[in-house]
Amino acid sequence: MNYEKSIKAFAEAQKHIPGGVNSPARSFKSVGGDPLFFARAKGSKVRDIDGNEFIDYVGSWGPMILGHSHPKVVEAIQKTAESGASFGAPTLVETEMAEQIKKMVPSIDTVRMVNSGTEATMSALRLARGYTQRDLVIKFEGCYHGHNDSFLIEAGSGALTLGVPNTPGVTKGTARDTLTAKFNDLSSVENLFKQHKNEIAAVIVEPVTGNMGVIQPQKAFIEGLRKLCDENKTVLIFDEVMTGFRLAKGGAQEILGITPDLTTFGKIIGGGLPVGAYGGKQEIMDMLAPAGPVYQAGTLSGNPLAMAAGLTTLRLLDETENFYEELEKSSAYLEEGLKNNLKELNLNGVINRVGSMLTLFFTDAEKVQSFADVNTCDTGLFGRYFKTALDKGVYFAPSQFEACFVSAAHSKADLEKTVEVSYQALKALK
Ligand code: PMP
Repeated sequence: MNYEKSIKAFAEAQKHIPGGVNSPARSFKSVGGDPLFFARAKGSKVRDIDGNEFIDYVGSWGPMILGHSHPKVVEAIQKTAESGASFGAPTLVETEMAEQIKKMVPSIDTVRMVNSGTEATMSALRLARGYTQRDLVIKFEGCYHGHNDSFLIEAGSGALTLGVPNTPGVTKGTARDTLTAKFNDLSSVENLFKQHKNEIAAVIVEPVTGNMGVIQPQKAFIEGLRKLCDENKTVLIFDEVMTGFRLAKGGAQEILGITPDLTTFGKIIGGGLPVGAYGGKQEIMDMLAPAGPVYQAGTLSGNPLAMAAGLTTLRLLDETENFYEELEKSSAYLEEGLKNNLKELNLNGVINRVGSMLTLFFTDAEKVQSFADVNTCDTGLFGRYFKTALDKGVYFAPSQFEACFVSAAHSKADLEKTVEVSYQALKALK
């Protein structure tokens, strides 16, 4: 494939935008080469400015569960735009959105809309601190909760990919208030609770991880977190920015059968527009201004365009018969195909999949269940695999430490082609 225009565009962008991109994860830094500049997308496909077309498994990093430019979502945005893009005053659609979220996620009593996943987790942590009147938070190595100072400690996603899990610019004081534990290792959490009795405001976790690749929590681990938080009067926050409305109508908490105190959302909830949200127990949420003293605000929060895109998306997910069953079938087909490829080529690798989130780890390990397991991966091999797949028309996330997202728009033909391309890309590694 010819990427001439993208290469030129990236050279130009680097003169005006730091690193040439507005978010590091979309650079191709870890896989080598220049990022592609996209021009348009429809259904399962994205097209770059050179006119190359790819089957897309990034889906804007998660939001596009219905596929790109779904006609109903496009229509909702267009219609809304005609009535005004923003008022900074209450609108009816915000209440409808809150009702729809509550219907799909029963742990939500009330919910506050914000503009990104980062805002959602930042605000949820402030609220948990205000509610408990404690300072400390426990997060897990390799989990990513957006770019708030408090969470850029042993962070996953782009921070991990680019080798800056602890970023400069976070004060020592802030870093001191963030404790890190090991995912799927309950004793590491128990120890922190013992060392910091009555000091821990919140435990925040990606209930199924995506930002160090896909890892499922062991039952005893996730149940143990709930129990420890109950015993210590600590707020359990599920960061479902990625998993919310993706793994099931009710997100990861539905499939795991665990009720968090607060949940954060993003991505799908905005249908491709910039949105986040956080919600949960009434008693905690009532602490928020103007009902209570914990301040949090936003000029564009509950923005009509974003609400229209998000609400249309959520309603389609809620009302389309067997939506998640069909998505599961497509995703299972892809997993099976990739597994067969590894077997046929006699290559090592681990495929973790939960619903429509999947990661192929290039490792000799038997299983990937922890951040330590993730770190056994050969990122060089991944990079070569990624590039060959790209050249053959399949766009996976440009990092070993991310999930691939299957959407409802991926057809049988798309999935078959992906399995074939993956076979070729794996074969090229030998
Ligand atoms: N939490 C999780 C679990 C995420 O995956 C992300 C984004 N990848 C965020 C928070 C941050 O969301 P945003 O990029 O919208 O700020």
